[in-house]
Amino acid sequence: MSSLLTDRFGRNIEYVRLSVTDRCDLRCFYCMPRGFRDFEIPEHWLSFDEIERVIGAFARLGTRRVRLTGGEPLVRHGLPDLARRLAALPGLEDLSLSTNATRLARHAEALRAAGIQRINVSLDSLVPETFRQITRGRLDKVLDGLMAARAAGFRPIKINMVVMKGINDHEVEDMVEFCLEHGFTLRFIETMPMGDTGRNASDRYLDLREVRARLARRFELLPGVMPGGGPARYVQVAGTELRIGFITPISQHFCDTCNRVRLSVDGTLYMCLGQEHRFELRPLLRSGCTDTELEQAIRDAINLKPERHEFTEKPEKILRFMSMTGG
Ligand code: SAM
Ligand code: SF4
Repeated sequence: MSSLLTDRFGRNIEYVRLSVTDRCDLRCFYCMPRGFRDFEIPEHWLSFDEIERVIGAFARLGTRRVRLTGGEPLVRHGLPDLARRLAALPGLEDLSLSTNATRLARHAEALRAAGIQRINVSLDSLVPETFRQITRGRLDKVLDGLMAARAAGFRPIKINMVVMKGINDHEVEDMVEFCLEHGFTLRFIETMPMGDTGRNASDRYLDLREVRARLARRFELLPGVMPGGGPARYVQVAGTELRIGFITPISQHFCDTCNRVRLSVDGTLYMCLGQEHRFELRPLLRSGCTDTELEQAIRDAINLKPERHEFTEKPEKILRFMSMTGG
């Protein structure tokens, strides 16, 4: 069944990115400011019951895929319980997780048993000192988390690397070798001007077409496909299973095929990463709405979805950090 949610531009909305917290144990400099503590108050967090109710409504409206994200989703206590409840919702076929992996070693098995199938891990550097400079965290914990995820049976495991000029761009070939060695999928991401943090990182922006051209000099790259690959354009390294995706919101935007909305921890539905269009579901949920009213609210929200982001034309537009929306 295709989604019952179609926006004003004919796009089928069948994917929800669900931010379960705006908090994080890292401080990637392009995402969240150092020392930032102005988080959403717990009274405003959607409870697991409320989240299940909203995702249940989306599933009845044809949503088939949900990704848990944040902030760092694993800092929200009881995440495997929430995952189990969502995985059991009728109609939902694909439950996945985006994580920085610092806590994954502890939780990988429980998350897999709860029904999460696929996992994306952010990893911008394989050099401990560079990793620390970017994130303020420890690389060894992330590597332990990755190996635990592999042992727990997640397939595929995708590595997400934000490639930044002069910071980690010299590591792209090493990251390819690392993913070849461990059987991970690799995705490169362009920096987006979200919040001061993202805008400050813009001077490190690198057009990924340059990275692709560089990799093509070292590896034979064939056109690749990746089921459920989202907005990434994929290539495959000849003679290997390795797929490499390029997520290029700035150099080659993909808004005409956008199929998603984002639900933040406070119950706000964001229609686009790069626009302000939003719909507050929390007041409705807490005023005792019926399921029919909730479904109608979601349909109304989808009608607000804008045609495209304006990161290039209006980079100053989005004040919220990526961690607040759910990347
Ligand atoms: N904490 C988890 C993680 O890091 O994977 C999930 C949330 S994080 C906000 C999701 C993704 O957004 C990460 O891959 C991160 O690198 C990316 N991200 C954050 N800020 C960004 C920015 N300004 N530009 C591009 N990607 C960004
Ligand atoms: Fe945390 Fe992920 Fe943002 Fe890094 S990118 S600060 S890990 S939410």
